[in-house]
Amino acid sequence: MSHELSKAYEPAAIEMRWADYWIREKLFSVPTPAEGETRPVFTLLLPPPNVTGRLHMGHMLNQTQMDIIVRWHRMRGFISLWLPGTDHAGIATQMMVEKQLEKEGKKRREMGREKFLERVWEWKREYGGAILDQMKRLGASVDWDREYFTMDENLSHAVREVFVRLYEEGLIYRGNYIVNWCPWHETAISDLEVKHEDVAGKLWEIRYPVVGSSDFITVATTRPETMLGDTAIAVNAKDERYRHLQGKKVLLPLMNREIPIITDELAQPEFGTGAVKVTPAHDPNDFQAGLRHNLPQVNVMDEHAHMNQNAGAYAGLDRFEARQRVLQDLREQGLLVAEKDYALAIGKCDRCGTIIEPRLSEQWFVKIQPLAERAIEAVETGEITIVPENYRQIYLNWMNNIHDWCVSRQLWWGHRIPAWTCSHCQEVVVARQPPTKCPKCGGAKLEQVPDVLDTWFSCGLLPFTTLGWPDKTRDQAVFYPTTLLITAYEILFFWVARMIMFGCHFMHGHQQDAAIRKASGWSEKQNDSVPFRQVYIHALVRDAERQKMSKTKGNVVDPLQVIERFGTDATRFTLAAMAAPGTDIAFSESRTDGYRAFANKIWNAARFMFMNVDRLGFVFDGPVTPGQAGGRTAEGGCPHKGIAGLAAQTLEDRWILSRFNRVAADVNAALETYRFHEAANRIYDFFWGELCDWYLELIKLRLNGDDGDQAAAQITCKNLVHLFDASLRLLHPVMPFITEEIWQAMYEGKAPLKSIALAPYPQPDEKQFDLAAETEMAILQDLIVSVRNLRAELKVEPKIKVPIQIYAHERDIQSMIEHNRQALERLANVESITFVDSSLAKLAGARGTARFDVHVVYERKIDVGAECERLKKELEKLDKGIGSGQKQLENPSFVAKAPPQVVAGLRKQQVELALVRDKTLSKMKELGCS
Ligand SMILES: [Zn+2]
Ligand SMILES: [Zn+2]
Repeated sequence: MSHELSKAYEPAAIEMRWADYWIREKLFSVPTPAEGETRPVFTLLLPPPNVTGRLHMGHMLNQTQMDIIVRWHRMRGFISLWLPGTDHAGIATQMMVEKQLEKEGKKRREMGREKFLERVWEWKREYGGAILDQMKRLGASVDWDREYFTMDENLSHAVREVFVRLYEEGLIYRGNYIVNWCPWHETAISDLEVKHEDVAGKLWEIRYPVVGSSDFITVATTRPETMLGDTAIAVNAKDERYRHLQGKKVLLPLMNREIPIITDELAQPEFGTGAVKVTPAHDPNDFQAGLRHNLPQVNVMDEHAHMNQNAGAYAGLDRFEARQRVLQDLREQGLLVAEKDYALAIGKCDRCGTIIEPRLSEQWFVKIQPLAERAIEAVETGEITIVPENYRQIYLNWMNNIHDWCVSRQLWWGHRIPAWTCSHCQEVVVARQPPTKCPKCGGAKLEQVPDVLDTWFSCGLLPFTTLGWPDKTRDQAVFYPTTLLITAYEILFFWVARMIMFGCHFMHGHQQDAAIRKASGWSEKQNDSVPFRQVYIHALVRDAERQKMSKTKGNVVDPLQVIERFGTDATRFTLAAMAAPGTDIAFSESRTDGYRAFANKIWNAARFMFMNVDRLGFVFDGPVTPGQAGGRTAEGGCPHKGIAGLAAQTLEDRWILSRFNRVAADVNAALETYRFHEAANRIYDFFWGELCDWYLELIKLRLNGDDGDQAAAQITCKNLVHLFDASLRLLHPVMPFITEEIWQAMYEGKAPLKSIALAPYPQPDEKQFDLAAETEMAILQDLIVSVRNLRAELKVEPKIKVPIQIYAHERDIQSMIEHNRQALERLANVESITFVDSSLAKLAGARGTARFDVHVVYERKIDVGAECERLKKELEKLDKGIGSGQKQLENPSFVAKAPPQVVAGLRKQQVELALVRDKTLSKMKELGCS
């Protein structure tokens, strides 16, 4: 019998094979749990990537963290549902297909709505799955059977239902409003989709003649073309300069319209001339002032930001062309008083970069206040927790200053608003089904409003619409509220806040299945209307120099290329190991290269194990039996604590077993609080540093049966296999592929479960903690490292075995060393060991510690200068350590507050440091160091 594991570790081949296998076997598909289910449930919604998207580092980080958490829960016996899908991404997708059409010389408007939408669907069918295919390569353990698309019929049905209900509740209204308008996209966009850019602009001062006098009023503007739509001049009521002009009129230059001089707080005496022009159709503040004074709204531009018929002689001009012409004409008429440099922030469309034009148009709005109140409460009361904590306040600040949400978009691709206009009487009807006649006039000609909904409207509903809403389903009873949301800060308001508002509103009164709820650990008081119980906001991935990745800088790292070079496992491990909460990740390929080496180390260790397993004819039947998936018993208990199959007799077995349990405790605790870096680094240090570098070396002799003890060799082999199995399970959530490959090979294709992903996650067994073994092993390691260092300092050839002398401070230490004599001899290349009764620390070629002195007997003269240099550094280090310890002990509040064993430990450490310091000093004296 032999175990199959190829000679070289080649991640690409392994990873593709297992990714396919997991999907083919439907390992992560979660059928709806029946009534009476008592296992805990863990649910996570994938933030749906844009259907037009390509996987970037942000996704990779996000998905790695989600996959770690989901796999960890699944292995701990939770029914774990991770719901994947894609977002139709209204504006992005429409733009993409329009650009494609442009290349063919076609235009959207010429094609017509229906033809265009057919084309988009065609595009979606062909390319829309690309990003999900990339996800498969990452090993994301999602339920592919539940994959959704935000424009699927069932989800679209739910969107219509939500819109109609909100309308019926008076939470949706239609109105003329100033919106951010993108002239390129020809649609309104939300505040969140506008990016502001500081530019060096101009401020122009223009004189308006006062009717019936020779006076002028001077106003300043950065957008002179909008003056064509002015409907008033405002001055402050308290401003003495203009008191005599209140109630008079001015003649609007270029247009020859008379407009009133009004008093309004829009005009601040201390700013500029104290008088301002009022253009209600082209500025949000002026719009409000216009409502206060019942001013006409004169819109002078069309949807392309070209001047329209209201702009008189300027009709047909582009807005910037019109600006030049207006200035030119004002100059000629002597009305342009000044042109000054002026720094201003201009708003641009986040997607196409076109300068935003505030535009008056008819839009649909969600009245947000009633929804926001409950969403604020949900976070304030802790029904939803946000991690890291600082995002909680950011969320609350934003929610407390929230404005009504403009949800209509003048696009074609998206959920069309379920509203119809009567061609006869202009009545607007909002309905679930297309109405056949007007309820007001009875007319039969009704046309659907052309607008579609903001993409985030439908995304905000996903936590319940993906679970069958508006029907009441078993899926909702089980999986709602979802447990956790892991997402990026940039969509906290776009998406997270809206899910909270919609969830609390539409799932009001919902209750999760009581048994599942209890098993999952939720308290009686916890409200079940929330869309998720916890939100974890992950960091940004930056480049190695901590610069934000951007196309213009050319420093974007393509995760697929990194995966190509180093493998998915190493890439995942890098992102996990660097993800300390609250700090951005400076991604560098050298780190990934290092973790590829880690995977390689594990691979070689597995090959070493298999070589011995085959030689000894050992058969592994594992700790897992069928029916124990996730390691959870029917009673909810977890029988898989520690490592059951390991018979710990020797020091190294007791030590590694203790270490494994401590690491398992740390890793579980770290994952509980999303300290991915801590979990990853703990596993790394254990697997490489303790298991591979020490344990494997320590057991080699016994494993080989060199001492003639075949029974011991068998036990050692068994221990190694059980330890390796448990360590693979510990690592699996972070490196799913290599662990699957080795684990399957361990069972020679006869594993009791279909995948390591279904095996139990190691839980610490405190009974297997062994402090004595850890202390003894630390001394042994210290001794071996000391001899290795001394050999290096004395420049002993690697092949030469050297005699050593040891002075042990305590009898127990001496007998422990005697007991592990063979390990010491082999790992430090020692010929013979002699124990002596007095300190050796003063000798050349010796090292003194608090527990032992060791002397390498070797005739070559040591370099006294170099040795003195080393001792001096050593002394400095010791002084520093003693100093800081003393400081702590002299601090009364530390001594009072710290646990007694910590204080005692520190005192003991001080004594030991002082002892080593004495030894170092006397040695320096002996050598005559200056
Ligand atoms: Zn745009
Ligand atoms: Zn009608």
